[in-house]
Amino acid sequence: MAQRKPNVRVTQVSDIIELSPHLRRIVLSGDSLKGFSTGQEGAHVKVVLPSEQPSEQPSELQTTSADKSQKMRSYTIRSFKEDTLELTLDFVINRHDGPATNWAKNAKLVDKLIIAGPGPLKITDYDQTSYLLVGDITSVNAINGFVPKFNQDADIRAVISVPTRSDIITMDYDDSANTYWFVEDEMSISLEEQVLTLAKNMAKDTRVFLALEACKIRSLRPMLEEQLGFSRLDCTAVGYWKQGVDADKFSAQKKSGSN
Ligand SMILES: Cc1cc2nc3c(=O)[nH]c(=O)nc-3n(C[C@H](O)[C@H](O)[C@H](O)COP(=O)(O)OP(=O)(O)OC[C@H]3O[C@@H](n4cnc5c(N)ncnc54)[C@H](O)[C@@H]3O)c2cc1C
Repeated sequence: MAQRKPNVRVTQVSDIIELSPHLRRIVLSGDSLKGFSTGQEGAHVKVVLPSEQPSEQPSELQTTSADKSQKMRSYTIRSFKEDTLELTLDFVINRHDGPATNWAKNAKLVDKLIIAGPGPLKITDYDQTSYLLVGDITSVNAINGFVPKFNQDADIRAVISVPTRSDIITMDYDDSANTYWFVEDEMSISLEEQVLTLAKNMAKDTRVFLALEACKIRSLRPMLEEQLGFSRLDCTAVGYWKQGVDADKFSAQKKSGSN
């Protein structure tokens, strides 16, 4: 008899909220979420996309079979409510075509979605005195998850790049003092220049989290080291997506060290 993988769950869409022109919130629920870890806001789950046939809904059977043709993508936990068994994920839409964004765009109430995880939190040291977080619309929920966990006396600065002003979303923390929204279609300087300006007087041992498109990380990380004196050892840099490359190829590139 096939063994059920313990962290693979079939969930059901229970709510859909249009957060912004480029962000669609999907709430997943179901008894399968019993025992899902709490306090993992900012970590990611893998969503396993249904196969290409539009009528096909994932079944319990699919959670037990290793179907290599199914596409998996990473999505960040915005919240998990243990009492109502509701897991909230926010999907970028209207920016590109791909199995995950297309699924989210067409999702309807009671559609099923398989998830696996959660994966580990990418930052776990919460008692530092200085933090710089730089993200975009794909990693806004990672920043939202981490900031409330940090020592609140720390110098915390976040820069979040969004396509338009309407994509600025409400955070779970008071973002008025420490979060700068970089509105892509209004800015006359680059994200890199903006980050350097905002971070120029920060302590050299600032803990840095970069969660961006891969080429943005490649340009920003050396600037932070060379121009601001930050240490590579204090920096967690994660390519959340790569322009022109789908997540399967990008993941293979990361594994082979060629991204
Ligand atoms: C740890 C982690 C957590 C993540 N959390 C989230 C999240 O909460 N919400 C979210 O929306 N994304 C999140 N992402 C990013 C998401 O996994 C990727 O954007 C993924 O490529 C989307 O899959 P897809 O099937 O839509 O497109 P793919 O099939 O992977 O890619 C198809 C094409 O679209 C392009 N593309 C992919 N993503 C984008 C984008 N955002 N903007 C413009 N072009 C793009 C690719 O370059 C490629 O050319 C996360 C990634 C990681 C690593």
